Amino acid sequence: MADDTIFRKILHGEIPCDKVYSDEFCLAFRDIAPQAPIHVLVIPRRPIESLRSAVESDQTLLGHLLLVAARVARQEGLNDWRTVINSGTGAGQTVFHLHVHVIGGRPLAWPPG
Ligand code: AMP
Repeated sequence: MADDTIFRKILHGEIPCDKVYSDEFCLAFRDIAPQAPIHVLVIPRRPIESLRSAVESDQTLLGHLLLVAARVARQEGLNDWRTVINSGTGAGQTVFHLHVHVIGGRPLAWPPG
């Protein structure tokens, strides 16, 4: 499926973002509707629609996204944080370009809603 999402537009510089980290494989930027004092999204440059559609050859990239999520959390001064990947509409996914939420800066209840 062609990647025709808002995140593709951000990756291509067609719309702005508040960037916090970038490398050849991914981009991290602040969520436009933050759910906590710190709310950053880490997205792969290569479009993957969802974790549901990830395949074996995405293994290294997926690991990289998690390491960057931890790096960004530390960079933001977080010691405790939550990483979330919503997969599918029923789980809250609204943008169909894989992204890791990094959320922190306030107490986080469990279980999530
Ligand atoms: P999800 O609901 O897991 O698909 O997460 C999508 C996230 O993207 C939501 O938290 C939105 O607030 C966020 N979002 C949507 N558009 C933008 C944008 N232009 N810049 C930054 N974050 C965005």
